[in-house]
Amino acid sequence: MRYYLPLLCSLILFACEEEPVPLPVERQIPKLIEPYLEQFMLEAEKRGISLDTSSLSFGFDRDLTIPLAGDQRTVVGICLRSPNLHLVNIDTLNALWLLSGYLGKEEIVFHELGHCLLDRPHRDDKLASGDFASIMRTVGLLQYGDLNRFTGVFLPPTGIKAHRRDYYVDELFNQTTIPCWSDTEMPSPYPVATYRAGFIENGEYRHTWIDPLGNYWLYGEGVNYRYQEGNIDTPLPDMRVTAMNNRNDQIWIAGKIDQQSIIGTYINDVLEIKYDLSDLLAEEIQIDRLLVDEIDRIWFSDDDGDLYVNSGGGFERVPFSSQQWVSKLLQGPNNNVYLLKGGRFYIVEDAQNFVQVDRDNADIPVEFFWDLAIDAEGIAWLRPTESNPFLLQFSSDFEVRRLDYREINLLEIRINDLVADPNGTIWAATSNGLRRWDGDSFSSYCDYNTGLDMLNFSSIAVGKNGNIWSIGRDTTNLQPTLLWSQTGR
Ligand SMILES: [Zn+2]
Repeated sequence: MRYYLPLLCSLILFACEEEPVPLPVERQIPKLIEPYLEQFMLEAEKRGISLDTSSLSFGFDRDLTIPLAGDQRTVVGICLRSPNLHLVNIDTLNALWLLSGYLGKEEIVFHELGHCLLDRPHRDDKLASGDFASIMRTVGLLQYGDLNRFTGVFLPPTGIKAHRRDYYVDELFNQTTIPCWSDTEMPSPYPVATYRAGFIENGEYRHTWIDPLGNYWLYGEGVNYRYQEGNIDTPLPDMRVTAMNNRNDQIWIAGKIDQQSIIGTYINDVLEIKYDLSDLLAEEIQIDRLLVDEIDRIWFSDDDGDLYVNSGGGFERVPFSSQQWVSKLLQGPNNNVYLLKGGRFYIVEDAQNFVQVDRDNADIPVEFFWDLAIDAEGIAWLRPTESNPFLLQFSSDFEVRRLDYREINLLEIRINDLVADPNGTIWAATSNGLRRWDGDSFSSYCDYNTGLDMLNFSSIAVGKNGNIWSIGRDTTNLQPTLLWSQTGR
């Protein structure tokens, strides 16, 4: 494979010709091209640009060549313009097209549409990083697209570049600014710190939490860790913390001490046990999720998937028939509790009354979810399993709105964690950086980039004052690293 890159380089010229097309061609947009053209029109629309596609046509051709330096050079695509026809020809048997993943093919089509619809000439100047400033360059590897068959096998981690798409698409339409990743010397605009430790690399925690004081906790396996004023300490060494919750600026905490399950408050580093559940419940349980709701009911789920609530008269089991794990337990609107149990979405009113949101009572295309977050308006955000590239917004009147990734700036991006911050703003930890919902769309990569080479964020927690805690991977060595920043201020 050592000959792979040079060979490819000679094949990936992009071209643009300004000659009249010799014969009239029947205009056509082949099925293969449709998604890329639709995305191009969507990107134009987002930027307030209206485009005339009445003369646009696509064709597939082999052995496309252009004259360059006294030679005929093979190219992957070509734009031929005449007054009544803008024809893009793509060589779909060209190595670059064949090796490209979705974003790679998009970049090739976008380059040609840059010529044919936006009237863009070539641009070959470079950024400080050595990367081309534009996808309108004449030579070179893909700038944000993926050669997906080889990503991770032949490309080093630094070859991961889908996060650059935001900039290159902006540049295509607006020829804008310098991207945040173009200069490794570029200082972070935010206070930022990283922390790497064995327990993070080994995943010796199950949950993360920000307490009311703004301290970040990692807990759930072995020891409890708390990141406080730049230091990590290990509070409650004799307790195995399994769940945390905040209520009225108090930390509520659940876990096991001497094999006994307890729920208590933790104030000024003093644990006050409120409930010793070994006294209350006959069977031995482990508390997995904890919620003290807005009318001071105490809810918890256990590792058997049972849900209990205490409304003042002791704990009662909510009579779910399924014994599936509760992965989210959140305060919903109207004094209801929202939860994901076995991936299914339930609304629980009290110890007797609950409803599963499914196809019978709501217009939802899927019924299994990885993630649930509640925003400031009480809208529940649901993230389906991986193969579904959309989010659902569910309002308390059972109205559902579908947000397709391609429309909300998450094209080919994987969400790993979706949370609401204390103000109810939605944030996502993604394969391509940290992103914040801005009302119509998720932010660009650069908006919350810290200047560090970190990608593939697996978790995010946002505290008061905009403190963000996130675990991502250092792109140089792929080690999980805890990031603290104030990008969310
Ligand atoms: Zn070109």
